[in-house]
Amino acid sequence: MGSDSRMQPLRLGDRGPAVADVQISLRILGLLVDDGSARPAGPDGEGLETAEFDEATERAVRHFQQVRGLSVDGRVGDETYRALSEARWSLGDRVLRYDPDRPMRGDDVTSLQERLLELGYDAGRADGILGAETELGLRAFQRDYGLTADGTCGPATLRALRQLGRKVTGGRPQLLRQSASFVESGPHLIGRVIVIDPGHGGPETGFTAGETTEADLVLDLAQRIEGRLTAAGATVYLTRGRDQSPSAADRTAFANDTGADLFLSLHMDAHGSEHARGVASYYYGTGSGVSSTVGERFADLVRREVVARTGMLDLGSHAKVWDLLRMSRMPAVRLDCGYLSHPVDRLLLLDARLRGVVAQAVLAAVQRLYLPAEADPPTGTFVLPSKA
Ligand SMILES: [Zn+2]
Repeated sequence: MGSDSRMQPLRLGDRGPAVADVQISLRILGLLVDDGSARPAGPDGEGLETAEFDEATERAVRHFQQVRGLSVDGRVGDETYRALSEARWSLGDRVLRYDPDRPMRGDDVTSLQERLLELGYDAGRADGILGAETELGLRAFQRDYGLTADGTCGPATLRALRQLGRKVTGGRPQLLRQSASFVESGPHLIGRVIVIDPGHGGPETGFTAGETTEADLVLDLAQRIEGRLTAAGATVYLTRGRDQSPSAADRTAFANDTGADLFLSLHMDAHGSEHARGVASYYYGTGSGVSSTVGERFADLVRREVVARTGMLDLGSHAKVWDLLRMSRMPAVRLDCGYLSHPVDRLLLLDARLRGVVAQAVLAAVQRLYLPAEADPPTGTFVLPSKA
């Protein structure tokens, strides 16, 4: 979702990509139920052009406006558009830090501010904008709780905030807090060590999509996954930072040294044919009986969760003898999450909310991997909070 202001509000009867965008937001918030007629897009992207602002969409917009204290007219003008944009963030979705030039905005910032205020820190007004006062409050909290007082709300600070007992509360209804309740209600992952491997890095950018590179997108995705797994109690390591480009041997050696239980490598594809699209996963195996059972199961779970939650095409799981899979001592899976060369896949992958959904899918897959088989729920349904 961009930040351009609009002249004409979207309303009943309008069609086009902007309507599809609004519908994606409403679905992520659980306000618009996906009845199959409102997929993110059809096989050739026609869903984006023909997405219609129908009555169900208008009802969802009215519901959202009511909940957020906006004037309820069922149209999406500047104010509603901005509010939808900010509502996509739940605490834990991303690392929060103060940027004086472009302050971060969102519901996750509001949650952080409310939490700090509840704990007695002056974090300024809970307005959803991360300003200097909020940063000062955050640093004070970090100092008091023995954390690095860097003014950055990452996994360690988030864990401390959560461990202080009370749930994040506020005037907003529970349905806008889906990811927090998801994490709190799922089986915890304490004691599990998981290595996330964002592909490429540094000078090696992988595929490009406009100004964005595969390397940047998979790093962003890895950080979102790190946030969610860490909040669920796992210990998570990333194989690289933004400027590093380790070899496959370095990546697997790193994972082996950490004694990880699970290794997940992240890539996005591209293809000369613009029709190629979808999600595939790979596990170690020769295709003739020798394979990693747990790897195969996780490859299957993670791919199915991503497909079920994003509507991207299912390209199946496949046995491979790639070094990355072969040299890691723990179950290792590579997830190829969509094609940057396909117009619809690319649009989805460039959307931060969609990457949040993929991170949620990975968390669900990891939790299911460690769940007793008899308790395993159907794909795409795991611990989804009840619709308000
Ligand atoms: Zn790649």
